[in-house]
Amino acid sequence: MKPWRKPFDHQDKTFSSPNIYINRERCKGCGYCVEFCPQKALSMSSEFNSKGYNPAIASNEQDCMACGYCEAICPEFAIKIVSSISSEDTATSKLKDKDKHKEKITN
Ligand code: SF4
Ligand code: SF4
Repeated sequence: MKPWRKPFDHQDKTFSSPNIYINRERCKGCGYCVEFCPQKALSMSSEFNSKGYNPAIASNEQDCMACGYCEAICPEFAIKIVSSISSEDTATSKLKDKDKHKEKITN
């Protein structure tokens, strides 16, 4: 399935290898996260958890851009994304760049 939308600021985000943590015992195998991941970083495992579901797995973790869709959409709160650089950091550095630019103009 082609993603129908991407996060509006995904071009502005920079990350150093986010980590995807999936609690396989919480997962009920609905597949929402796999369906909606814009980077196709997730897939369904062929193994079963103790409840008899096929849990999601991070099969292409290196492609994750830490958009947080999977975290937000998971009905079981089974996914956690940990990224060392947030979009806020990027936004803050952009504001600093703007300030520097203003200083150059006024000087
Ligand atoms: S954070 Fe975004 S890119 Fe990463 S696995 Fe979740 S939905 Fe995919
Ligand atoms: S959305 Fe949550 S419950 Fe559904 S497959 Fe993904 S991790 Fe499992």
